[in-house]
Amino acid sequence: MGNFCSNCGNELRENAGVCLSCGQLLNAANAKKTNNKGKALATVSVVFGSLGFYPLIFVGSIVGLITGIIGVCDSSNQYTGRSKIGLGLSIGSFCFWIILLIISFLSAGSMRFAFYRFFDQL
Ligand SMILES: [Zn+2]
Repeated sequence: MGNFCSNCGNELRENAGVCLSCGQLLNAANAKKTNNKGKALATVSVVFGSLGFYPLIFVGSIVGLITGIIGVCDSSNQYTGRSKIGLGLSIGSFCFWIILLIISFLSAGSMRFAFYRFFDQL
């Protein structure tokens, strides 16, 4: 009742993602292994994207942005939905601080004072 490798005919274990005899990658239906890397990337993106609003400010936004992009672009990632949420949160928090920075710039009249005012608000 076992499956056989389409490449070399070797008998395969159930749910094997790769033939142990010849190394042939088998179809995705056989490879039901959870993509832990994708899950971690998506989760980090959501967490840091949210923390990008506060207290991690820009750092959280940037970490969330990078992990979100990697997660969304990884085609084997089953968690692209979560990565997209993280990406959205990261972009949101990043824009939030950029807008605040622009507002402080406009009200302060110079970049030097804008930064003082900006970091005073934190
Ligand atoms: Zn094989």
